[in-house]
Amino acid sequence: MKMKEQEIEDRSRTFNDVGDFWEHPRKEGWYYYDGRCPTSNCIVIPAEDSVEVHNFVIYEEEDRGKGHGMAMIADIRLAFPDKHIWVDTCIHARPFWEKMNEYGYINSIENDYDWPCMDTTCTVCHPNRANGRRRRK
Ligand SMILES: [Zn+2]
Repeated sequence: MKMKEQEIEDRSRTFNDVGDFWEHPRKEGWYYYDGRCPTSNCIVIPAEDSVEVHNFVIYEEEDRGKGHGMAMIADIRLAFPDKHIWVDTCIHARPFWEKMNEYGYINSIENDYDWPCMDTTCTVCHPNRANGRRRRK
């Protein structure tokens, strides 16, 4: 037990006095941001001049559209004030990221192609699926 606690502690990181970053157990240099747990979570991958934000998720449907995402990305901006923060976005989240870009919380959206999300019931990313079911060919 003691060992385990030690192990967990060693993975925690603070960036610019913003805490609650935890290094990914298998991917070096990837950090979970748990500062907004359990509502939301994301991964950051800091490089020399930039930070990629990854797996940005607000868990519960009912928590979306209430500013939780903006609060979380504001934390990330605080943690990395001088770095170029960028994301790849799926189709349904693009308006959100465009707004965050406008506000200066991120610096760029890097993918210029349409990326449908994994959720086949999402009608924004999958507009042709009338009933949300995966179609047979
Ligand atoms: Zn979607």
